[in-house]
Amino acid sequence: MPVPHDVILRGGHVIDPVNGLDGLHDIAIDGGMIAAVGHDLGPAREQVDATGLHVLPGIIDTHVHLSSWLGGAEGHRMLARAGVTTAFDVAGPVGSVMDLAARYGTGLTLACIDYVRPGHTVDTTDPAADELRDHLARARAQGAIGLKVLGGHFPLTAEATARVIAVCAENGAHVAFHAGTLDTPQDMRGLRQALDLAAGHPLHLPHVNAYVRGSQDHILTETMEACRLIEAHPNIWSESYLAPFNGNSAKCANGIPESVATQRNLVKGGYAATSQGMEDAILGGWAHVHMPQDGENLLATGEAALAAWRAADSDIGCSFYVNPPEARINLAIMKRASGRFAIDALATDGGGIPRNDLCERGLALVALNALTLGEFVVKTSAEPARMMGLPGKGHLGIGADGDITLVDLARRQAVSSFGGGRPILRDGVVVGRGATILSPPEAEQHLRDKGLQTRLTPPFQFRPLQPSL
Ligand SMILES: [Zn+2]
Repeated sequence: MPVPHDVILRGGHVIDPVNGLDGLHDIAIDGGMIAAVGHDLGPAREQVDATGLHVLPGIIDTHVHLSSWLGGAEGHRMLARAGVTTAFDVAGPVGSVMDLAARYGTGLTLACIDYVRPGHTVDTTDPAADELRDHLARARAQGAIGLKVLGGHFPLTAEATARVIAVCAENGAHVAFHAGTLDTPQDMRGLRQALDLAAGHPLHLPHVNAYVRGSQDHILTETMEACRLIEAHPNIWSESYLAPFNGNSAKCANGIPESVATQRNLVKGGYAATSQGMEDAILGGWAHVHMPQDGENLLATGEAALAAWRAADSDIGCSFYVNPPEARINLAIMKRASGRFAIDALATDGGGIPRNDLCERGLALVALNALTLGEFVVKTSAEPARMMGLPGKGHLGIGADGDITLVDLARRQAVSSFGGGRPILRDGVVVGRGATILSPPEAEQHLRDKGLQTRLTPPFQFRPLQPSL
């Protein structure tokens, strides 16, 4: 009698552009890894009927929020339901991300970077290199693999922003920069400045669509310029998202929203950039509060949303419909002269922000023949895995991690998923637990003490550069 496999997925249409698979195959998983792809793979302890479904390498969302500051505990369940198996929290604060992952994890693999925030993780808007090195060391000790400059929300000086990028480069740490500094707003001017401030160092440029809103020129002209600029800077790794609404913090202090982005978006909707303006905007249907309901967050306006905002002492997320379709759709599909995508990955900026829409909106582009399903996999799994230095993810070859997402293409929904061979989502129900953290070596014991699993990610493992570099 042959030894049974741990799991076999039978009869699904497997799409794996890395290994050239596009057809009906069974997949066997043993010991958390892909053991065989083919037909008549023998017996298994667990069988999954994938008939009528598409079987993809586990979805990797390279931009989510899972902290008490942004996103919240609900994000773990929301990501799992969306078919995501690996996610990257692109803000922190890292301590909160790890605490919530330990308590509310749904079986995902997670990475996190920690924000550089004046008055919180650094003293001023102009931290010196030594202070930034200290912050990076503290962040790594807690499990972050690098730093985030939240320019659009909490801008630093241009010089300090450049120092963060340089300090991360010298230490092999990942760095993401939400463009915008004290002297330059979060728009095309911010994007141009971000590429200059990177000075050739590796830089993760998040949510490119958030700089392309037609404030400086025709939105399609801006879209083209953004793609050309990024193509001319092979040190840049970028993602964009598809949702029509953004994600901000609604937190107010001393009568005004803390975040510059939130202030600007209130004004854009015709409201005052004050606490009172926020109240009016929630009641008036412009500011959408991220309201918890049945373990997930929904967008809400009106009296109930205002009550939720007040009950949270204003420390709750909110969204504004500020993303025009011309940018978010074109940025998702445009390519470079080389044939690579102009924007490396399709992400969501979701997690606890209710827009985990890689299947819902991303597969709509597949339905439109704007992306092939293989290209969808490149942008939501293969390329993210390459950037994160995870050769076992992003494909379904023998020996790869047992990270798999089964989708119903007609409904544009994830049905089931596995992370390391363990079920995360089963027939639409979240069954995963805990989290595996991509951890710097110095945080391993600290994270294990919290009950988290770890997978070591030494410095320089993340490679947010084009493959030719
Ligand atoms: Zn974000």
